Amino acid sequence: MERFVLPLDVVEELVSAYSMRVYIGDVQHCTLCGNCGVIDTRGVRTPAGLAVGRLNYCCCPNGLALRRQGADLEWWLAQRGQDQRIVKVEKGEEEHS
Ligand SMILES: [Zn+2]
Repeated sequence: MERFVLPLDVVEELVSAYSMRVYIGDVQHCTLCGNCGVIDTRGVRTPAGLAVGRLNYCCCPNGLALRRQGADLEWWLAQRGQDQRIVKVEKGEEEHS
């Protein structure tokens, strides 16, 4: 079976349209990220305890723009005053919540 790979700009257009329809809609705010473009799932664990969270670009237009620009998400959240939950984890140190 031949793989069909869409160009990135086409994928972004589809993802943006999907997020506008499903996650933004009439409220005109992204219900996933609140329009900051970042979804922070750090601290999320599977039922078995495997840590699977991370900082993610949202799939809304703001998140897609941050991804295209290669934004440093920790810096971006800090600029917005949403860094209270960010804990720097140095090698060898335990994470604190
Ligand atoms: Zn969003």
